[in-house]
Amino acid sequence: MIHLESKAQEEFQKSLATCTNQEIYQLLLQLIQNRSKHLAKNHSKRKLYYVSAEFLIGKLLTNNLLNLGLYEEVKEELASYGKSLLEVEEAEQEPSLGNGGLGRLAACFLDSITTLGLNGDGVGLNYHFGLFQQVFENNKQNYQPDEWLSEPNWLTKSERSFEIPFGKFTLTSTLYDIEVIGYHQETRNQLRLFDLESVTSDIIEEGTIHFDKTNIKENLTLFLYPDDSDRNGNLLRIYQQYFMVSNAAQLALAEAMERGSHLHDLIDYVVVQINDTHPAFIIPEFARLLTAVHGMDFEEAVYITRNIVAFTNHTILAEALEKWPLGDIQEVVPEIAGVIEKLDKKIKEEFPQQPHVHIIDKNNIVHMARLAIHYGFSTNGVSKLHTEILKENELKDFYEIYPDEFSNKTNGITFRRWLMAANPELSCFLDEKNGTAWHKNGDLSALLTYQEDTEVLNKLYNIKREKKEQLKNHLERTQAISINENSIIDVQIKRIHEYKRQQMLALYIIHKYMAIKKGQIPQTPITIIYGGKAASAYTIAQDIIHLILTLSELIEKDEAVRPHLQVVFVEDYNVSEAEYLIPAADISEQISLASKEASGTGNMKFMLNGALTIATLDGANVEIAELVGEENIYTFGRSSEDIVYLYEVDGYDPRYYYEKETIQPLVDFIVSDEMLQLGSEENLSRLYHDIKNKDYFMALIDLEEFISAKEKVYEDYENQVIWQKKSLTNIAKAGFFSADRTIADYNADIWHLED
Ligand SMILES: *Cc1c(COP(=O)(O)O)cnc(C)c1O
Repeated sequence: MIHLESKAQEEFQKSLATCTNQEIYQLLLQLIQNRSKHLAKNHSKRKLYYVSAEFLIGKLLTNNLLNLGLYEEVKEELASYGKSLLEVEEAEQEPSLGNGGLGRLAACFLDSITTLGLNGDGVGLNYHFGLFQQVFENNKQNYQPDEWLSEPNWLTKSERSFEIPFGKFTLTSTLYDIEVIGYHQETRNQLRLFDLESVTSDIIEEGTIHFDKTNIKENLTLFLYPDDSDRNGNLLRIYQQYFMVSNAAQLALAEAMERGSHLHDLIDYVVVQINDTHPAFIIPEFARLLTAVHGMDFEEAVYITRNIVAFTNHTILAEALEKWPLGDIQEVVPEIAGVIEKLDKKIKEEFPQQPHVHIIDKNNIVHMARLAIHYGFSTNGVSKLHTEILKENELKDFYEIYPDEFSNKTNGITFRRWLMAANPELSCFLDEKNGTAWHKNGDLSALLTYQEDTEVLNKLYNIKREKKEQLKNHLERTQAISINENSIIDVQIKRIHEYKRQQMLALYIIHKYMAIKKGQIPQTPITIIYGGKAASAYTIAQDIIHLILTLSELIEKDEAVRPHLQVVFVEDYNVSEAEYLIPAADISEQISLASKEASGTGNMKFMLNGALTIATLDGANVEIAELVGEENIYTFGRSSEDIVYLYEVDGYDPRYYYEKETIQPLVDFIVSDEMLQLGSEENLSRLYHDIKNKDYFMALIDLEEFISAKEKVYEDYENQVIWQKKSLTNIAKAGFFSADRTIADYNADIWHLED
């Protein structure tokens, strides 16, 4: 028994019934922290450090209660005092420690690593204000510091601290831990977040996210991905990365020695997975620590490093592959620049004729992915297609050198958060029909036996309907947005990027708007919901947001169109918003330009919650399509081979598509009088010219096929029996995308931890 009532009396000298939600949140936080202390720390010899610049963990209250098996009990006790756990959850601030899929993956992985009983911690930075809080003003994105670190919170200050030797000064770190609780699991892990006591919000200019980028002691952990459009911004990112990895490496060495390692046997004690290249400086840092601090000879230090670091690649977008001028690294940490030069020298000696595999190129630019591949023991992609593209195209030279070190680990999501916590209605129904083994093994395939069961199909319809009502209430309460719960809910939520092609969906909206104006009224009203942030230095992405917000306003003001079509842009998209949006969605928009989305994980969350996917054959969409069969997904668009080829031969000209009579009016509408009356000429016309003349991510190439596919989806929605059958198939086949499966694969092939 929990007896929250007596805890309330003790702590606040009053009844639960009169406690504020904030006070109840505080009680529950203490309760969970006390319970988690009783879970054993995992003491197995070999330990994983999952190092990542981002951990998009979401709110922890519901998830922790669920994983501890306390959720129902707490909910009922609160209800008996007239309190709602859902409302208490609103008192919690979502930690702002990530940006998108890469950070959310790290969070799902921590849940699965711990649930599987493996010894593994996450290591990252404690950004005081996260990426930024997105606010819309005049149909544009604005920036506020995301003040998530209010008290009480989940961080506990640890005793550990390390000296981080930058070139010009040495800083002393502070470590904060967040307990990671597995689902019905006796051992726990931790998320280790390093910070610096001297960092202060005083240097942020009021009402902005601007600050003095050269004041490292005061700015180091203020923001995730600080603006790097100038040299000082670049240097700050190197300061952050080195601070993160020096702490991570020193922590791994200290803990290994505490478990009995004499460092020559470090390979038996430590494995480090680096989540993309942001932590790749950990390679020269291990080499530095083992030699300069622990007196090992260089060759042995390199051998050990090369056998403990494994690399996950997340992108093939050239602009996203990290490169740093050697001079910048020299300025921040000259010792590390020296180690990188030594590591590069070995590669140049071994492969003198292959400049594309050299770590430092002829312009003295350091290629971080090359460093990670040469000096790690494993390189993995995150979906079958992505890994194939890495092997055959982007990293072909490396695959030929190290064929045995490449592998695929298709991403996954934790079903505890994305089904049990976000959609208890569906989750309970699945328990009734399938039993509860799926909570751990992810297997939902037994649901397939109910394909023809109209009662089951009806129930799925009713659950979706209930989730739409909850979303409607949530958006009304928190964003003063009113949606129609009887409409088709069609959702594209993800970072705003041209390759993800939010602009292609916007062109479809223009198409639909024009059709409705002409009297072609959709049978069921349509609500298209967007969410996502654009990087502050990414102009075209801001323009895309502006286009969508302006379209939204235009339609809202048009009485003839408004009843049939609504466009909503949810402000400040994050994990908590996703938890409302995904279970309510009928349609999942996964329309990236083929070959550009490494995997996607949003696609998996929607599938698990019964949305049907409209998809290009990109990333893990390919695997979704294989699993559900072509009749249960709406695929369209050019293949990844076609697109890769077009880039190779520079063979795409948007003009060719623009000049088609189906497409030209849609693109021209961006700068029509109606739009210019509401929107900004600068943003709209810049985007218009970009799409017409450049369209680097080919929004126009698939537009006609996309329009047909969308019409087909909406038409199919009208037959709810067939629709729910498709939905059921999607849920039933989602088991493969459980992060528990992904983590079991990482462990079997890369980590080799004891369970
Ligand atoms: C899952 C998730 C993502 C990743 O979405 P993609 O569609 O795979 O890009 C990004 N942000 C949040 C908050 C998420 O929950």
